[in-house]
Amino acid sequence: MKIQMVDLLRQYQELKNEIDDSIHKVLDLGQFILGPDVKELEKELASYVGVKHAIACGNGTDALQISLMALGVGPGDEVVTTPFTFVATAEVAALLGAKTVFADIREESFNIDPKDVERKITKSTKAIVPVHLYGLPADMEELLKISESKGIPIVEDAAQAFGAEYRGRKVCSFGKIGCVSFFPSKNLGAYGDGGMVFTNDDALASKIRAIASHGSEKKYYHDYIGVNSRLDSIQAAILRVKLKHLDRYNELRSKFGGMYTERLCGDVITPGTFPDRKHIFHQYTIRTGQRDKLFDYLKELGIPSAIYYPVPLHLQKAYQYAGYKKGDFPVSEKLSQEVLSLPMHPHLKEEEVEFITTSIKNYFGK
Ligand SMILES: *Cc1c(COP(=O)(O)O)cnc(C)c1O
Repeated sequence: MKIQMVDLLRQYQELKNEIDDSIHKVLDLGQFILGPDVKELEKELASYVGVKHAIACGNGTDALQISLMALGVGPGDEVVTTPFTFVATAEVAALLGAKTVFADIREESFNIDPKDVERKITKSTKAIVPVHLYGLPADMEELLKISESKGIPIVEDAAQAFGAEYRGRKVCSFGKIGCVSFFPSKNLGAYGDGGMVFTNDDALASKIRAIASHGSEKKYYHDYIGVNSRLDSIQAAILRVKLKHLDRYNELRSKFGGMYTERLCGDVITPGTFPDRKHIFHQYTIRTGQRDKLFDYLKELGIPSAIYYPVPLHLQKAYQYAGYKKGDFPVSEKLSQEVLSLPMHPHLKEEEVEFITTSIKNYFGK
């Protein structure tokens, strides 16, 4: 039994005919950039999320950067986000010359703490960027209250949470803008890079589309300084096939998440359950004070696991210029020592989950 963190090969074997067909159709048509599949995917995803506009782009990082550009974020501005995330979230603000201001997370959800967001807001705050980490929606109601009362837009980083729901509504439909990534290992993954930006705002949608295309709405006329960020037709065609299976795959992740929790609670801290949210388990992440030893123990048994993320962003070398120090974000710092993500994908087998959980129980002598 060869267990993988994410098993893209098993998925391809299941979808092979559909996927190969869709790729060949693009090859026969010969429109490789922004062809009909890209337009169709945008329509399908806008309707899936329940928003008016979906704009495809090159990857999830670009989706975030283009969103901040469309909101006019630049030098002297501040963007509030979590230090407990993949670096892309903070990177894009820094690249635009803005200051990345961190707010700590909530221990039970791993997501940004709205109370700390409120404390970090200044006159210069131009955007709030919550991340729905591991596939669990952030505390949107509290965040939206802050956003509305202060007039600061929210950009949702839903790179890990496409299909997740908060109070019955899909993520990416709450903020002024929502962003996803189609990196192959994400819940809706391409066979290369891809990203999408969502919004209900007509004017913002046109601006986002222009910025993604060299700031141009009409060819060779440039209204904004933009970037070159495109989704190619082959990736769009693959994503359209996979979209048909996404809900079923997310249900399977959730089933395996439930199995892990049932078998592991008591030995480790299992992910919190939130009745008002649909967690889509991009990652299944446990917490234990013996994280590093458990990692080694599992590795010896051939069980992969991973640490997302070992160093919170405020302690990364690249972000030292921001002036943060150890102790500034105690919850993020503590959890970065304790988290361990276990194999999670829709093609796990029950006996694999049993083997993994039994091994963890053995480690703890039970
Ligand atoms: C993957 C990821 C991104 C970036 O997506 P790419 O498509 O790899 O650029 C951004 N934010 C988070 C939280 C992610 O997990």
